[in-house]
Amino acid sequence: DVLTDDEITFDSLLLPKHIFEGLKRNGFQKPSPIQLKAIPVGRCGFDIIVKSKSGTGKTIVFTTVALETIDTNKKFPTVLILCPTREIAVQVQEVIQLVGCCMEGLKVESFIGGTPLQEDKDKCNNCHIVVGTPGRIKHLINNGVLKSEYLSLFILDEADKLMEDSFLSDINEIYNSLPSKKQIITASATYPNSLEKYLSEYMVSPTFITAELGTPLLLGLKQFVSIVDKPGDMCIQICEKVEELRRILSTVTFTQCLVFFNYQRRTQSITNVLNRSEFQATCIHAHQTQPERLAAVNNFKSFKCRILLSTDLTARGIDAANVDLVINFDIPTDAMTYLHRMGRAGRYGSTGACINITLIDELEVLQKILGCIGGSEISIPKLPEFAGSIQD
Ligand code: ADP
Ligand code: MG
Repeated sequence: DVLTDDEITFDSLLLPKHIFEGLKRNGFQKPSPIQLKAIPVGRCGFDIIVKSKSGTGKTIVFTTVALETIDTNKKFPTVLILCPTREIAVQVQEVIQLVGCCMEGLKVESFIGGTPLQEDKDKCNNCHIVVGTPGRIKHLINNGVLKSEYLSLFILDEADKLMEDSFLSDINEIYNSLPSKKQIITASATYPNSLEKYLSEYMVSPTFITAELGTPLLLGLKQFVSIVDKPGDMCIQICEKVEELRRILSTVTFTQCLVFFNYQRRTQSITNVLNRSEFQATCIHAHQTQPERLAAVNNFKSFKCRILLSTDLTARGIDAANVDLVINFDIPTDAMTYLHRMGRAGRYGSTGACINITLIDELEVLQKILGCIGGSEISIPKLPEFAGSIQD
């Protein structure tokens, strides 16, 4: 359901020539349903709440609107994009740069922390679009490094995440420093019901735009459960899960695989275990340095490694086109996280599978999650013993 009618191309949206050309040069020919619906409304300057499944192209929605609003003759930023992780910020910056390839002089900068303030200062005052994480952006505004009075387009990618308690005070501070006349765009695959109402307090009669009916599950994704039923203490059970993980990695066919954990230390230690055996795995979690984190994402996206072990740091937003297998080593604690993790596979309508390695103790949580996300999938099949290719 990701692809649209054959007849409709980006031509139909009557975009400015430089943006149309930028999309075309990067292989974007037909808009996805959410792009088709949201771009025209966004271009009119309305506040919009954009909701569509993972991997359906929300980045291009706000990229297109952002590129159309800026004037490359100006030497200060007028667009601010916030993302919940540094990795997403860098990814968004890259997409805008690609689509903006035909706009001479365009400067898009990301501010993600871990770099000297002076460097940020030089970048800030010489670019058109600022992308960053809330903490760093707040810091730059409060220190007078980033001038916020001209920021007339404010974009929140993964908006529901940005509205969680841990970010909220930063977001409020940033919001309060913005000019009163501005456009706001939010994007996510998930919005809790209460959030819509909450967001409308920040926005001026926002238009809610979604491209889907019914289940938030991606149709191209198959789900499986693999139950680990081993009596004993936690340590024995984790060892058993590791055995199951290795069995899956050696019997299930995949191009690239993301394995999710609920804990940083476990992510690291099981990566070490895999690397001591026949598997080459990379890991990413917030306990690493920023260069290590960016290197891990880059290696994975550029296919230098096939297996990435991760905390929920990459559960959202990260776009690695070849991921066709997601494994939950630990069952996530809530349904939203489950959906976002799963959404790392099946990008832009491709097929994929999600395997839940589940202890008996975790079955109840998994059932609850499946109940929340609904559809007909309240019970999911057991992973077959000799699984092979399970994606199709
Ligand atoms: P979302 O933010 O909705 O999860 P992304 O914006 O990361 O999704 O896009 C997912 C993938 O789909 C990216 O690799 C992107 O390049 C690709 N994509 C987006 N729009 C199109 C399009 N119109 N045609 C082809 N590929 C697209
Ligand atoms: Mg996204």
